[in-house]
Amino acid sequence: MTQMYQVTFLHHSGILVETEHFYLLFDYDMNFKNELDFCKNNTEKKLFVFVSHSHADHFHPMIFDWSKSNPNIHYIISYDVTVPSYLTQDMVTSVKPHQVYDMKAIQVATLISNDEGVAFLVKAEGHTFFHAGDLNWWHWNGESDDFNQSIAHSYQLEILHLTDYSIDAAFIPADPRLEENYSLSIDFFAKTVRTNYIFPIHFWGQFSVCQKIAAVVEEKGYDDTVIEIKKNGQTFSFS
Ligand SMILES: [Zn+2]
Repeated sequence: MTQMYQVTFLHHSGILVETEHFYLLFDYDMNFKNELDFCKNNTEKKLFVFVSHSHADHFHPMIFDWSKSNPNIHYIISYDVTVPSYLTQDMVTSVKPHQVYDMKAIQVATLISNDEGVAFLVKAEGHTFFHAGDLNWWHWNGESDDFNQSIAHSYQLEILHLTDYSIDAAFIPADPRLEENYSLSIDFFAKTVRTNYIFPIHFWGQFSVCQKIAAVVEEKGYDDTVIEIKKNGQTFSFS
């Protein structure tokens, strides 16, 4: 029997997934602090902290301080992020693109980002989650056709690695700075990968993006449901 899980949208690309025995925290930028005390105080549940790359909207070095008071923590960190020397080797897995890491409790596979770092595919307690980091269909209207074609290709190539999986929840950028192209990434993902729920991320606080993109995906008749996030700290439960 599959257990229920919860997803909390923290801030920007920061996502907290809670399964029966684990917390999976992705790209937390320290900008939503409520109710995250378990990060510093040891709890029954093991905390896995994922960082897709070093940009400030995905990573804050303060996350490493939690290890000083919480021994029940493990960091899964992209190779471009500097890890402080006080962290012992068994507390950190430094990851590269296109690798598989079996941590017994959870399994992690990485894709390469077309911006910086990696994207994460994580299997935990019968569930599969995907966090894209900055892997995105970065179609900028001011860029050359060559750039936009090559970014489209690199995005599609990576996402096509996921066609054999059935994903419970995926966290995919929908960046309004791309103007009318903000929905390309989720549209392609919904069309290509078997996924129950897609959470838009990286939308710079413009929550209306979520409703707009949910309508696009519904209109196209894809099976995937886009979650209409309304605020930072909002939690969704799934069974
Ligand atoms: Zn970013």
